Amino acid sequence: MTEQEFMEACERSFAQNHFACSAKQAKQLYVLTCRMLEVNKSMNLTAITDEKEVILRHYVDSLTVSAHIPQHARVIDVGCGAGFPSLPLAIFRPDLTILSLDGTAKRIAYVAETARLLGLERLEAVAGRAEELANSSAYRESFDVATARAVASFPILCELCLPFVRVGGQMIAMKSQQATEELMAAKHGISLCGGGNTTAVSCDLVSDSSEIEHRTLILIKKIEETPKKYPRHFSKISKKPL
Ligand code: SAM
Repeated sequence: MTEQEFMEACERSFAQNHFACSAKQAKQLYVLTCRMLEVNKSMNLTAITDEKEVILRHYVDSLTVSAHIPQHARVIDVGCGAGFPSLPLAIFRPDLTILSLDGTAKRIAYVAETARLLGLERLEAVAGRAEELANSSAYRESFDVATARAVASFPILCELCLPFVRVGGQMIAMKSQQATEELMAAKHGISLCGGGNTTAVSCDLVSDSSEIEHRTLILIKKIEETPKKYPRHFSKISKKPL
């Protein structure tokens, strides 16, 4: 795809999904796409390599959380991988301060360098395990919002993300399908980690051929501090989710 074709495809896909995309943002997405697909030849960043699909399934999808994030919020993206949703969020929401976190140092080095190339000064990338960094005083209970896409099953995700969120803030889990059963299974764990009111929001993606891809956002309000014993060691979290 030429740069011009990419810019037009971006404009169409964002408009179909009711998002605005300026020429500057489309250009940043073009630079991001070229870099991601180039680095992807030597590092496992994404299974999606068709540009139109990248626009819909990575960029538009990442922006579905934006409407639920307040202005000037401090956001942590737990298990960001190649930078989703954090890199598109940083491009479209320059008011946010974003920490991209992942357990794989190579991917974090890629995200940090990509943010630098795109001039995203308010995005910082840190390598580490969520269950370990959540015990550091610099990060614990200190974010307005924690997001996570495609990282772990929902009960595990709650124990990994809620300790980062300040009381009054919220966690947003991005799920590809309906999540009612997962949500029911996690109710007890949510409450043990200080979570309260939980809402599931459907936000379907519309493709170029007008096909619909279903997505669900699960929003959890943080109402109490997470007890110090959470998150547990990952072997315990995965063997016996709360
Ligand atoms: N969020 C990205 C996306 O939607 O494209 C990446 C998804 S990828 C399937 C899952 C990522 O979560 C991997 O990069 C993995 O290293 C990271 N991850 C899983 N468990 C983690 C943990 N406990 N702490 C930090 N990163 C974790």
